[in-house]
Amino acid sequence: MQSGKCKVRNLKVKVLSFGFTLCALSFAFLCGCQNRQLYKDTRVMMGTFIEVTSPEEKAGSIAFAEIKRVEEILSKYNPQSEISLLNKTGKLKVGPDTMYILQKSKEFWLATNGAFDVTVGPLMDLWGFTTKNYRVPAEEEIEKALLRIGMDKISFNEKNNVVKFNVRGVSLDLGAIAKGYAVDCAVRKLKEAGVTSCLINAGGQIYALGNKFGKPWKVGIREPRKPGIKQYLELEDQAASTSGDYEQYFFNNGSRYAHIFDPKTGYPVQGGVISVTIIAPDGLTADALSTSVFVLGKEKGANLTKRFPGVKAYILQE
Ligand code: ADP
Ligand code: MG
Repeated sequence: MQSGKCKVRNLKVKVLSFGFTLCALSFAFLCGCQNRQLYKDTRVMMGTFIEVTSPEEKAGSIAFAEIKRVEEILSKYNPQSEISLLNKTGKLKVGPDTMYILQKSKEFWLATNGAFDVTVGPLMDLWGFTTKNYRVPAEEEIEKALLRIGMDKISFNEKNNVVKFNVRGVSLDLGAIAKGYAVDCAVRKLKEAGVTSCLINAGGQIYALGNKFGKPWKVGIREPRKPGIKQYLELEDQAASTSGDYEQYFFNNGSRYAHIFDPKTGYPVQGGVISVTIIAPDGLTADALSTSVFVLGKEKGANLTKRFPGVKAYILQE
């Protein structure tokens, strides 16, 4: 997804590097749109570009600090995160963010009959998406991995906040929900600081806080198979999220294998939907639903979204 264009007046680029693929890029610039000023700031966080646009200069630093806090807890690529420690030990006393996002994940797992499943970690590893060494695994390997998939393999003790895996080798991957949650957390902090107008774009996870000088924020849905914008959305106090097969994928023998899995088969979802955009009142719902609808397909997916108030779906097929 892309946000509206502004004229760049001043560009400051700072490059840091950390982690194995990560190279953090931070730049801030002022945009002059219709003679009114917008501050635009971009960082690489949560494995993607996070862009914050606001008439308020402080919005960027507030949003980035909160997204960094959430990333440190939830990213499986940070060995110290609660999710990594849980994946390693199979049992952990967790903080409120992890407990909340795992319980929300379970709600979506139940609502989708298992199509949305944050225990897809072993499949992400097996097919090489975790390390970007892509490969098509043997059938037996997939069958073995499937034994470790399913939210029913996790128990929650709400009295002592302990999360426990019931089967060895369960591995959580919050890639389908964490960015939406992080954006919601950032929006809460922005509101607390009195910011009333801001657009956050976390690699396709959008939240439009308030409006842009009295008009809705305008964002574009990318064409999945060619350059350009398929459609513009106008958002005001709404989130939007896109899940597609055109950003993280590889080809093998003419087949496209993308990073969204059908947890029932252990294979990447193929042959139907190529892009789903969800508009929702909050980022977590938009993020979880866009992935869910991608797995469920057009009909079942559209039916699912009808159960959520304030949700609108744009589903594109091959
Ligand atoms: P993006 O990461 O591009 O925003 P999504 O929100 O659709 O796209 O999330 C895709 C990610 O979700 C994958 O990279 C993986 O981490 C995770 N994932 C893959 N399949 C599923 C699934 N069936 N249910 C839940 N999470 C999934
Ligand atoms: Mg998602």
